[in-house]
Amino acid sequence: MTASNSESVEDRSGILEEDDHMRGMERIAMEVVRVTYPFASVARVTGRIAPLDPAPWMPPNQAVRIAVEEPAGQRPVVRVYTIRSFDPVTSQVEIDFVIHEDDSPAMRWLRAAKPGTVLPMIGPRQHFIPLPSGDKRAAIFADETAIPAVYAILKAWPAGLQGEAWIETPDHAAFEELPRPEGVRLHLLLRPAGVAPGSGKYLIGAAKALPDPAGWTVWAAGERVEMRDLRNHLRGAGVARADLQVLGYWKKGMSSSDLDRARLAEYEALRAEGLTLENVGDIDLPV
Ligand SMILES: Cc1cc2nc3c(=O)[nH]c(=O)nc-3n(C[C@H](O)[C@H](O)[C@H](O)COP(=O)(O)OP(=O)(O)OC[C@H]3O[C@@H](n4cnc5c(N)ncnc54)[C@H](O)[C@@H]3O)c2cc1C
Repeated sequence: MTASNSESVEDRSGILEEDDHMRGMERIAMEVVRVTYPFASVARVTGRIAPLDPAPWMPPNQAVRIAVEEPAGQRPVVRVYTIRSFDPVTSQVEIDFVIHEDDSPAMRWLRAAKPGTVLPMIGPRQHFIPLPSGDKRAAIFADETAIPAVYAILKAWPAGLQGEAWIETPDHAAFEELPRPEGVRLHLLLRPAGVAPGSGKYLIGAAKALPDPAGWTVWAAGERVEMRDLRNHLRGAGVARADLQVLGYWKKGMSSSDLDRARLAEYEALRAEGLTLENVGDIDLPV
């Protein structure tokens, strides 16, 4: 008998297959075209997809759930990644995987990936992009896992919008590769070698130095505990709730499967009350 894979998240109620959760996302396969290493900290996977309709893949900051392991008789082990770019002419997407030290499902998939590898995925789901109203400016705080999202957001930056972005990465080159649209100032928070990500120092330090906090619409993504602290600081400093979109992309010391179990339990409880996906306050979950 095969041992069960503890990274597979059970969905006993089938709630994840319902329309409220799927919201027009499709099940699609990506065939790997190449894997390159543009910087030491990143593996860039270029793949080909054949979407039913390319339109939903076009706007910036689309996330996909990729099936990195498919244990027999269980749900696949899934991880969330960002579509860094989509080219409707070649039907190619790019996904940047930040390389980290743990022997994790996504890192195992990456080590085995080569041209021709097929990766099942569900998506795309568009995530928030900063679109301030009135004369507010856009502020972005991102660690290296959110650089692909920032890349896509900057590529599609609306003319006339003023913004600043603070990017934490151990890799100068990953910062240099970001687009520089007019009206945006980029700040590099270079994490020294030997300091682990999610240190709680650099992005929060930048957020604490944000002048006139009430004058910004904020988008932030990175390590979960760090992001919660950043959110709490900015709320306390006067950023309106409606102007704060803060996401925990990963959690130090915890697998995404455990995060997904907590998300699923919350979602099930909300659905039982007749509420929908919008009501899941991800960053406030007690994990
Ligand atoms: C909307 C969204 C978009 C995302 N987009 C991207 C993206 O484009 N590129 C990207 O690289 N990641 C992205 N992430 C984060 C990615 O899903 C997580 O890093 C995920 O945990 C990786 O899975 P894993 O199997 O490697 O590690 P897991 O099995 O989830 O975790 C195993 C261990 O590895 C640690 N770990 C996980 N990720 C990191 C990390 N980056 N640095 C250090 N330690 C880590 C965990 O703390 C844990 O201890 C995104 C997440 C979300 C929610």
